[in-house]
Amino acid sequence: MALVSPHAEAGEQDAEASVRPRRLAEFVAQHRVREQLQLLLTSALRRGAPPDHILLCGSPGLGKTTLSMIVAAELGGGLRVTSGPAIERSGDLAAVLTSLTAGDVLFIDEIHRIARPAEELLYSAMEDFRVDVVVGKGPGATAVPLEVEPFTLVGATTRAGLLTGPMRDRFGFVGQLDFYHPAELRELLLRSAKILQISADQEGLEEIAGRSRGTPRVANRLLRRVRDYAEVRADGVVTREVARAALDVYDVDERGLDRLDRAVLTALVVSFGGGPVGLSTLAVAVGEQPDTVEEVCEPYLLRAGLLARTARGRVATEAAWQHLGRTPPSAIF
Ligand code: ADP
Repeated sequence: MALVSPHAEAGEQDAEASVRPRRLAEFVAQHRVREQLQLLLTSALRRGAPPDHILLCGSPGLGKTTLSMIVAAELGGGLRVTSGPAIERSGDLAAVLTSLTAGDVLFIDEIHRIARPAEELLYSAMEDFRVDVVVGKGPGATAVPLEVEPFTLVGATTRAGLLTGPMRDRFGFVGQLDFYHPAELRELLLRSAKILQISADQEGLEEIAGRSRGTPRVANRLLRRVRDYAEVRADGVVTREVARAALDVYDVDERGLDRLDRAVLTALVVSFGGGPVGLSTLAVAVGEQPDTVEEVCEPYLLRAGLLARTARGRVATEAAWQHLGRTPPSAIF
């Protein structure tokens, strides 16, 4: 997996857990969502009742799982974690729901991928704190109503548009997590460096923050790799020079592009004169599957304003030419 991927790598959970904020006050940036959640949770605690169900939307690595844990901690309840793809049958979900204790938080990651029958069961649990479990098959089948203890559902999705209307309507609070500014990531890295006992100066952290694609998960991962370099090749202190040298070794450039991202842009600019070029042609040029180019590289290149999609194919933007240190033919822009 690429160093700049927003998805958690296998075996990365422990490293992530050590720097995960436990309370809302420790959660860096995202001021709007934080303030809204603070109000929701404080008022629920005062009323002594669970808050409305919470939906968190945003790209991978921006803090949805962390916030669900924080919600449970702030409410003083237990946390159960599952995910949409893990709930294949409604019976799976019924088992989880009926085992909750009052005040628990149930976190369902990738909730847009939950199977339809399970989704319908979830509706009644969310609304009335009860589920009808069907026992038996055929004409003899009967629905047995089961009580569910009052709980709070925290759903997370990277694709809010894929949620069904009825599902979305059942959340009383929807929080949108945005990409982080470099200054916010620097603050986040300062916190992580303290926890991990890494000595770093402001410039060193700024350098890492600028290459982290607006994503805390990437920032924390790059910090760990720069720490390795600082310990092995330098005096252990993360300075700007050390961060630059380390990230050069790992092929992460000053805008956070890795080797494949640059290969895509270079092919687009050098081989195809800036485009437009079709996805499959571009993929062949860099020796990758079209899916990989589309799902791994393009989201960030599009967001960074380096690539554009048009009806006739992919096009390099002026910023892409500049990033590669080339001058676009004057007729293009
Ligand atoms: P998601 O569930 O959205 O994919 P996570 O909640 O697992 O993202 O966050 C990924 C990593 O980034 C975790 O190690 C987490 O501690 C860290 N992180 C995310 N958001 C913040 C934040 N606002 N402040 C501090 N650390 C954060």
